Amino acid sequence: MNRADAKQDFDADVIVVGAGPIGLTTGNALRHHGISCQILEERTEPKAYSRANNLWARPQELLAGIGLRDALAENAYAIHTINFFVNGTPTTPIPIADVASPYPEVLYSGQDVIERTLTDEFEARGGLLDRGCTVTGVEQDDDGVTVVLRRGKDGPEERRRCRYLVAADGAKSTIRPMLGLDFEPERLPNCMNRQVDAKLSWRRSQKPDQLWFFYYERGFAGILPVWGGYHRLFFLADDTGVPDRDPTLEEMQAVAREVTGDETLTLSDPQWLTHSRFQYGVSPGYARGRVFLAGDAGHLSLPIGGQGMNAGLHDAVEIAWRLAMTLRGEAAPVILDSYDGERGGEHARLSAQQARGFRWTVYRGRVTDTVLGLAAKALPNLGSLLQGTDDMQQMGVEYPKSSLNEDSLSGLATLLRPGPKPGERAPDAEVTHRGETTNLFRFLYNPDGHTTGWALLCFDGRSPDAGTSLLEAVRAVEAWPWIKPRLVLAGPMAGGGKIPVLSDMDGKAHGAYGLEARPALVLVRPDGHVAFRCEADRADRLVAYCRKAFGAEVERSPSVLAAAE
Ligand SMILES: Cc1cc2nc3c(=O)[nH]c(=O)nc-3n(C[C@H](O)[C@H](O)[C@H](O)COP(=O)(O)OP(=O)(O)OC[C@H]3O[C@@H](n4cnc5c(N)ncnc54)[C@H](O)[C@@H]3O)c2cc1C
Repeated sequence: MNRADAKQDFDADVIVVGAGPIGLTTGNALRHHGISCQILEERTEPKAYSRANNLWARPQELLAGIGLRDALAENAYAIHTINFFVNGTPTTPIPIADVASPYPEVLYSGQDVIERTLTDEFEARGGLLDRGCTVTGVEQDDDGVTVVLRRGKDGPEERRRCRYLVAADGAKSTIRPMLGLDFEPERLPNCMNRQVDAKLSWRRSQKPDQLWFFYYERGFAGILPVWGGYHRLFFLADDTGVPDRDPTLEEMQAVAREVTGDETLTLSDPQWLTHSRFQYGVSPGYARGRVFLAGDAGHLSLPIGGQGMNAGLHDAVEIAWRLAMTLRGEAAPVILDSYDGERGGEHARLSAQQARGFRWTVYRGRVTDTVLGLAAKALPNLGSLLQGTDDMQQMGVEYPKSSLNEDSLSGLATLLRPGPKPGERAPDAEVTHRGETTNLFRFLYNPDGHTTGWALLCFDGRSPDAGTSLLEAVRAVEAWPWIKPRLVLAGPMAGGGKIPVLSDMDGKAHGAYGLEARPALVLVRPDGHVAFRCEADRADRLVAYCRKAFGAEVERSPSVLAAAE
């Protein structure tokens, strides 16, 4: 079925290499957008073990936009609090769920569980996951990409053809060096992580709804739930005198008792005992021609703040909507070109932030330890300061330098009431639709359920005269039917025909966008980031932006326009 969808001579529109969480999410997103897709994976069975077991709020929003979040939440624990201890002293707990998102609680599961759900979803969406295929070569030409693969260890060589390729083949990527995008990771010496997934009994809460982190002399430890009633205990510490091998259960229990101060702490039924060392780095680019890097193939993350897989999930969603629009002929080149700068820039920023947090957290001398001990008694939220960010939930991920950004709102009003600028995440807000209290997010992401739609938010700024300009703007973008207008009205209700009218009498949505008393148009991308803003009566600027992003207006017959509605 998948092949039938693809254009002649191509096995699929997109081939994804690697069925880790990022390759599978990319495949799911492409199928969600109606694009034919194959995933090639060298392993015949999925990898075991929990590895990345958390989903932060912002990645959950992105996963919700492609219809995956709820399936993943079914096999995950919801976390609301993080507890921090510095040399035995408790600091102010962080209410991690205190973020303005429809999905504020962090989900904790296991990477093996996440991959199983993603695989089931991908196959249910008609995607082909071909296991036992090792990709050994990639050749590009003007029309597409030829993938060379070997089935099994000594099997024959095969070739597959696609229009675009996503390399999600992990940290030891075969494809990255073929594109000239390899990088030398920075290694952090004299430090080791020892880790166990096991059943935990101790004097603190057994409920899988909070996390514990401990700063202890020359080390940092965490205790986190793992799906199935297990806990992960990890210890990042100076490796002096520590044997260079996986730890035993007894060794882990002994260090856990010492660090947590709980002499009753008992570990049993170990699922995974492991040790690792640290390196980090970012690829100098995320795209070459028709091939794109996603997930660990483009970056190596330090294990601080559980960011690695979560950052890769942004890559998956970001490349999928761009490829879908491009393949459907709905995008000017700037859309696909912007992936490289946006995601490459974000990974470089995150990597530098993590390296700072890691050095603070793990490479502490006696002086820092003493200062921390004193500060723990006085400073609220010390824990979040130590992590190098108070944005572990990735809510602040933004693309300030994106070639897709354009802003023509300016002046004093913009300075006094700043709203989200192009590149920033479009915030949620309570609105009323047909008498029902609901939220703006429902009208932002993939507005008709499965497409790569862009939402045009038309704010009246509480002005009774704005209606005419707003409807003119709506008419001006009819030539790009994937733009879905929404009237956000604080003033008198105007009839919008088929256009959803969102009542905002209390100005919550206007306030969130800095647009009280300011009629304006805000164009939001399929990933929920603002692309463009202008005054409500400057539809000409909106049209110019659309020509740049989507190409010239397409002449559509009335029947095509009706189908697009
Ligand atoms: C101990 C540990 C703990 C971690 N904890 C966290 C955490 O708490 N939070 C977090 O966000 N991240 C965490 N991470 C990081 C997380 O596991 C990775 O970021 C994540 O696995 C990246 O997913 P991926 O799909 O990019 O790559 P991978 O999971 O590595 O998947 C790549 C896939 O590509 C396949 N492949 C490779 N080469 C080829 C080829 N030539 N042909 C075909 N297939 C190929 C591989 O077999 C593999 O299945 C942790 C990692 C480890 C090791």
